[in-house]
Amino acid sequence: MTSPGRATIRATVCGSSCSIPRPGRACSAYLMEVDAAVFVVDLGSGAFANVIKHRAAEALDGVVITHMHADHFLDVIPLRYALKYGNRSNGKRLALYLPPGGEPMLRRLVAAFAPEAGDDFLGDVYDVRTFEPSRALRIGAATLTFAPTAHYIPTFAVRCAVGTASIVYSSDTAPSLGVTRLAKSADAFLCEATLTRQEEADTPRGHCSAREAAEMAAHAEVDRLVLTHYPATIAPAELAAQARARFSGPIDIADDGYTLKV
Ligand SMILES: [Zn+2]
Ligand SMILES: [Zn+2]
Repeated sequence: MTSPGRATIRATVCGSSCSIPRPGRACSAYLMEVDAAVFVVDLGSGAFANVIKHRAAEALDGVVITHMHADHFLDVIPLRYALKYGNRSNGKRLALYLPPGGEPMLRRLVAAFAPEAGDDFLGDVYDVRTFEPSRALRIGAATLTFAPTAHYIPTFAVRCAVGTASIVYSSDTAPSLGVTRLAKSADAFLCEATLTRQEEADTPRGHCSAREAAEMAAHAEVDRLVLTHYPATIAPAELAAQARARFSGPIDIADDGYTLKV
């Protein structure tokens, strides 16, 4: 619940699919509006088209990438073109925060398809930075803190807070005590739910089922669970039913365009 004068966070899901997109749905992206600051956490394949339904590219104050899987970062490329050929005022560059090791990977990728541009391809529009996961990152009024997840490559869950309001996003993770701790008492926990119940037995793995997401939400005592990053093969009603068995608070199933305010 929000009260007058309380700082708020608005999160709009711009990509709710896992790495295989559901029909008409993009991969991971979350548009965050915290006071006057506007930024996206992750910008996966197909998601930029959804972001600009809500905000112009030039309105963004930052992009934060949780890990270097294509379903979480690939649309920094179309955003680059939008900024390069759009209406940026006085050549201002957009802060692009990558996880440790992300910058050389992104530069190799860009060099493969735009070798003539060199470092200018990114540098023309982006201020490319590496976030330090053990330190808080400030974007406007928002404070972002991180926790490493249980995934196949270095990946970081993100807690976005302003005043007493907080939203935690799991990024990609198998059940994780660190992610659960990061989510402690959050107003909302956006957690991935990639796997079926049958796939819970797979090893190694870097994802959760809806049931496991709900277990983390229950242990973290969050106010609301929002399941996201799910495939076309599990019906939303099935996700909700699995989660309900483990979490007694409100449960939403994210879709592209879903908005949450805390
Ligand atoms: Zn993913
Ligand atoms: Zn991933």
